[in-house]
Amino acid sequence: MHPPPILQSALTCPQCGFVATETMPTDACLYFYECTGCHVLLRPKAGDCCVFCSYGSIKCPPIQQASGCCVDITTSSTS
Ligand SMILES: [Zn+2]
Repeated sequence: MHPPPILQSALTCPQCGFVATETMPTDACLYFYECTGCHVLLRPKAGDCCVFCSYGSIKCPPIQQASGCCVDITTSSTS
């Protein structure tokens, strides 16, 4: 039984160190995020699916549920 995913993640800006607590959408990944501190546009690091996985205190809901992320480019044959 999966616990419900945590939807609040504290995003830490790598540029200015500003921490913003954001609510993550469960149906989409947030790929771009503008820092409220310095307005730099954050992008996920290589291998990460969204900014929460790269800069957040909590990873995104699909990762928490271990169901893979919505940016699944490698279409596995599950039909
Ligand atoms: Zn910033």
